[in-house]
Amino acid sequence: MNSKVISGKELSKADPVFGQLSFDDHEQIVFCNDKDTGLKAIIGIHNTVLGPALGGTRMWNYANEWEALNDVLRLSRGMTFKAAITGLNLGGGKAVIIGDAKTQKTPELMRKFGEFVHSLSGKYITAEDVGMTTEDMDTVREVTPYVTGISESKGGAGNPSPITAYGVFMGMKAAAKFKFGSDVLEDKSVFVQGIGNVGEALVEHLVNEGAKVTITDLSQERLESVRSKYGVSIYTGKDLYSEAMDIYAPCALGATINDDSIYRLKAKIIAGAANNQLAEDRHGVMLQERGIVYAPDFLINAGGIINVYAELENYDRQEIIRKTENIYNTTLEILQRSEANDVTPNVAAVNTAKERIAKRKSEHSK
Ligand code: NAD
Repeated sequence: MNSKVISGKELSKADPVFGQLSFDDHEQIVFCNDKDTGLKAIIGIHNTVLGPALGGTRMWNYANEWEALNDVLRLSRGMTFKAAITGLNLGGGKAVIIGDAKTQKTPELMRKFGEFVHSLSGKYITAEDVGMTTEDMDTVREVTPYVTGISESKGGAGNPSPITAYGVFMGMKAAAKFKFGSDVLEDKSVFVQGIGNVGEALVEHLVNEGAKVTITDLSQERLESVRSKYGVSIYTGKDLYSEAMDIYAPCALGATINDDSIYRLKAKIIAGAANNQLAEDRHGVMLQERGIVYAPDFLINAGGIINVYAELENYDRQEIIRKTENIYNTTLEILQRSEANDVTPNVAAVNTAKERIAKRKSEHSK
């Protein structure tokens, strides 16, 4: 069991919520239960200083309630920093529904979940995450306006992946500017790991810029389809990490930068869409020691949240693009700050996000 010291008091088994290691002064944690639909959900509201807590709902067959609670605590905290560093007036929140999305999700369960979201009067705004679809968000929309990521036909902003990919591309260019002195990616070798919704759109930007792109994926069908569309190379080796390359773009799973891969990595830059790329914070320090520039994932993959924010603020496409392009400036600033303060880019990004929140808080209290 995790244990933690808060105000000099050691918290442990007898303090099952505030004692969790992933608890980080979250404002509110809501446990939702409905016997009739079988709904068991937890809504985590980490911080609402900058605005309502926005974050997706994940439906997952968690091994136990601790796992679900820790996931919602960790993810909602991450959303606070993502919104803050992106300059959005949003707080951080997230929800988890405990169960198998394939077999246990029903419209009744989704509506009941929507009622719980509604009971928070807009303090938490939900969206799609793992195990959720646009149709599920449409169902939630039947009972509450506090939902984003709904169908375009119902006023939603549509698929966020192309915008996410554009933001990743901007972050990658900024990292190149920092590392190589030029943000031109022509002739740079880029390995894109995972060519799903975001990965494929990223490949298109890279090819248009003249980068030398190599792709990997578990799906042979996807690989063939993307190769025939863009004329890129498929990786056929056995150890992607030890290949010589300029840029590694993880666009599949998290935690690929870990004890196993880190010493083999030959990339000069890591910039991709996957969430939580560093298995642990110390891997960020190890990258820095090895001179590998890491563009923080939560900063450069923020295009998706910019897209749903547009739904709330009624932004047009131009404004979405402008805000996403700004990821370039923010990434460059963060990398420079990380160098100047001798901290990892992740730490520099979190510190910048915290400063913005603290500044707003002090303005509120004046
Ligand atoms: P996706 O499911 O469409 O694509 C993921 C791809 O990765 C699939 O083609 C899958 O076959 C492949 N893959 C899985 N395991 C792999 C492995 N071990 N090696 C190589 N390929 C593998 O997902 P997506 O929407 O493109 O998102 C990609 C990543 O970016 C995810 O980690 C997601 O959480 C993150 N992200 C996505 C968005 C968004 O707007 N879609 C926003 C922020 C972050």
